[in-house]
Amino acid sequence: MRDILVVGGGPIGSYVAFRLAGMGYGVAVLEQKEKMGGRVCCTGIISPECLSAFGIDDSVVLRRVNSARIFSPSGRLTRLWRGEEQACIIDRAAFDLSMAERAIDAGAEYHFSSPVRSITVKDDRVVTEVAQNGTGLEFEARAVVIASGFGSRLPGILGLGKAGDCVVGAQAEVATASVDEIEVYMGREVAPGFFGWLVPTTQKKALVGLLSRRRADFYMRKLISSLREQGKVISDEVEPGYRGITLSPPKRTYGGRVIVVGDAAGQVKPTTGGGIYLGLLSAEIAAKHLKQALEDDDLSPGRLAGYEREWKKKLGQELKICYWARRFYEKLSDKKIDQIFDIITANGIDEALLKADSLSFDWHGRAIVKLARQKVMSRFFNIIRLPSWIGAE
Ligand SMILES: Cc1cc2nc3c(=O)[nH]c(=O)nc-3n(C[C@H](O)[C@H](O)[C@H](O)COP(=O)(O)OP(=O)(O)OC[C@H]3O[C@@H](n4cnc5c(N)ncnc54)[C@H](O)[C@@H]3O)c2cc1C
Repeated sequence: MRDILVVGGGPIGSYVAFRLAGMGYGVAVLEQKEKMGGRVCCTGIISPECLSAFGIDDSVVLRRVNSARIFSPSGRLTRLWRGEEQACIIDRAAFDLSMAERAIDAGAEYHFSSPVRSITVKDDRVVTEVAQNGTGLEFEARAVVIASGFGSRLPGILGLGKAGDCVVGAQAEVATASVDEIEVYMGREVAPGFFGWLVPTTQKKALVGLLSRRRADFYMRKLISSLREQGKVISDEVEPGYRGITLSPPKRTYGGRVIVVGDAAGQVKPTTGGGIYLGLLSAEIAAKHLKQALEDDDLSPGRLAGYEREWKKKLGQELKICYWARRFYEKLSDKKIDQIFDIITANGIDEALLKADSLSFDWHGRAIVKLARQKVMSRFFNIIRLPSWIGAE
């Protein structure tokens, strides 16, 4: 019998497969797509730290960036810039493929066109039912890792609950003229409660996208038309893709012989919807706990609970602060956001934050708390009440 079945060959499932196969365990990845490396609705922005920490192949990097232009609802511009590289834009299709290839090289088997329909946990094994090219097949292993991304029904079937708050991400590849910096657009007319973006990937191409709780298609077409009018987008035909993003985790991310990881576990930054880094961090923790549990032949819920304890210890407070900030931001009017822009630039808060260690591409919590504790901000909001669980300075 195999040791581990991984449901989903996205970057997070492939990373768990790579780590466990590399330790000598028998791993099979069940992926519903026909192959990896197709188009994925994702901008692929990750930090240089993420790239090096998880040994991501340099060949998937399209561009490295150290600045961004942020537009307030009324069009006021703030340029964020740091001397050193802040982010890498990766080719998401090539990334998925290279992560899968690395897992295969480490010894993992991949079964494509294999959507998992159900998972049954027995005393000594898990059994997954797979519909492979119209034929029902069963795969068995000692444990299963659910890495099936947004909206997966599988954790719910196993009684682990559904991932929480969800939004829609929209994105399209466009031809561009004279855009060489990431641009971020705020305001209710662009993406209510969220933001839109234009991310140049090569000299002539960029990704346009946005997040929204409602009518993502409407706002997406509007954003593209506006960028066309500004001469930033020059494509006539644009084909947006849409995908959900989970902003909060399900009730539980483990069970007997089961671990949930990545987007399926809501391991996503609630501020931006970015899930690659947090998913990979959690995948590393999952692999560590599974290794110990397999070695001791103890895959009980009590044993695998250690996985959730550890990832929540590392990410829990960050996710809570970012989710609090997200809900706070969603309630702001365009006028208030513009005023915040003014306060930030007039008081040099942007410069101070850029110089501070607390501002990091991957970790937003400390910078959010620092910003909220600025006296000018508190005065403006008539004292921002930070939740008591954030703790004193
Ligand atoms: C518009 C948009 C932009 C984004 N931009 C960024 C960004 O710039 N940076 C960032 O870090 N994150 C970004 N994200 C989020 C990022 O894409 C996800 O966090 C990341 O893909 C999570 O990886 P995953 O492996 O958990 O899930 P996925 O990438 O969704 O992979 C899940 C895999 O499981 C397979 N699968 C699903 N169900 C089954 C089943 N029943 N049986 C078999 N296989 C199954 C799917 O086919 C898929 O291959 C963005 C998301 C969106 C929507």
